[in-house]
Amino acid sequence: MTTTTPRSAPLLTVEGLRKTYRLPGGGALTAADAVSFAVPAGGSLGIVGESGSGKTTVARMLMGLVRPDAGTVSVAGRARTPRTPRGRAARLARAREIQMVFQDPYVSLDPRLTARRCLTTALRLHGRPESLADGLLDRVGLGAREAQALPHGLSGGQRQRLAIARALAVDPRVLVLDEAVAALDVSIQAQILALLGEIRRDTGVALVFVSHDLAVVQHLTDEVLVMRRGTVVEQGATTEVLAAPQHPYTRLLLASVPRVGWDPADAVTARAATAAVPSA
Ligand code: ADP
Ligand code: MG
Repeated sequence: MTTTTPRSAPLLTVEGLRKTYRLPGGGALTAADAVSFAVPAGGSLGIVGESGSGKTTVARMLMGLVRPDAGTVSVAGRARTPRTPRGRAARLARAREIQMVFQDPYVSLDPRLTARRCLTTALRLHGRPESLADGLLDRVGLGAREAQALPHGLSGGQRQRLAIARALAVDPRVLVLDEAVAALDVSIQAQILALLGEIRRDTGVALVFVSHDLAVVQHLTDEVLVMRRGTVVEQGATTEVLAAPQHPYTRLLLASVPRVGWDPADAVTARAATAAVPSA
């Protein structure tokens, strides 16, 4: 009999993350406070909230790109150190825990490398066979022509597919996507979301999906966390939060999602209701 990790055992555990930025004028801004959540292997968590609510700050703390003032991030029960460790092996091991895909893949893709070379480079760096590149290209739906193309020769959707493939080349336990489909057309968004759903099913990678757009997280995530001005106002099963939002701010976000029968007046009414809610 083999022992399997129950699907519900947390793979990514985040406890009490806080970040306060010192402002040039001498003030301070708490961009995230008391943020806690857990994601099982193969699970998917959405972080939603309006622009400025602290989502990217949380994503960057997960990655270690922003140093938290308090709180911990653990992967498979091991706490991630706040700093990038010294030594190549430790750095690579850390990279295999969490990979990130950004809104604009131009920032993270080397403009001089073809898609295939981009993947073989990442594979080689992580001591994995370069021959895995073709399977990765296939996995994200990039064909022979795209494999030979440079980033500027790819469409926005294809570039984002490449960025996802490059993150997967590292074989990460957790994939964090920060507004990864925000710049894409709605039909392309849908394709990338479907692809991410397949990848999570097939590989067991855990997804943390950050978006200002509730419509984007609703089909892809099991759990959702709603942020407003740095604090979590609501969190729970995505279906429940969407069906019966408890916090006026969540209702505001829902009212702001254009859909069939959507009335902009609803969003205005919800906005007025939220304005009366004191923030933390
Ligand atoms: P979101 O991703 O939800 O739009 P961010 O995490 O980017 O939110 O930002 C949250 C708040 O923190 C915003 O008010 C933003 O202006 C502020 N902020 C983000 N990064 C910095 C920084 N490096 N220095 C000072 N303030 C910052
Ligand atoms: Mg952001």
